[in-house]
Amino acid sequence: MQFRIQEALTKGKLAPIHETLDFSNLLKGRKDVLSTEPVRVELNVSAEEGIIHVDGRLESELEMACSRCLNAAAVKVDVPFHEQFKQVTVLSPDDEESDEDIIEVVGDVLDLKPYVEDLWLLELPFVPMCTDDCKGLCSECGQNLNERECGCSRGKIDPRLAALKDLFIDDNQ
Ligand SMILES: [Zn+2]
Ligand SMILES: [Zn+2]
Repeated sequence: MQFRIQEALTKGKLAPIHETLDFSNLLKGRKDVLSTEPVRVELNVSAEEGIIHVDGRLESELEMACSRCLNAAAVKVDVPFHEQFKQVTVLSPDDEESDEDIIEVVGDVLDLKPYVEDLWLLELPFVPMCTDDCKGLCSECGQNLNERECGCSRGKIDPRLAALKDLFIDDNQ
């Protein structure tokens, strides 16, 4: 997952990268991720006018806890990767707006792994769902409503009305 920038600039193109990476160490302490398969990474590295272009995609499957019922939800992360890099002797100051989204690299070795990891983590869904129409858990007894209806009366009150109701109670105290 790493290469020498000067070599890429000289050759113009490097052999495609095909790797399978285990990112489970990135997920330590995340209770919403139940299990993950290694991530398949395919990247092409080319160079043009001093700029390194890295294009490809990441693919992986994992199991996350459904955000409604907490059962396992199968999640597929399949995302394109596009980044551009250039070698510099000194990084530009943070406050200096660069005209293009080119990542600056000091030194001759470019390791793509941190960029791949960042992209993959960003692509994990915030609200994974086991099915599109998951009914979730009963707010009264915790029963998984996909399995059976528990019979609790869960007042289907509009949250805006609920807020009004609270106001009304406060006024009377
Ligand atoms: Zn669910
Ligand atoms: Zn219930």
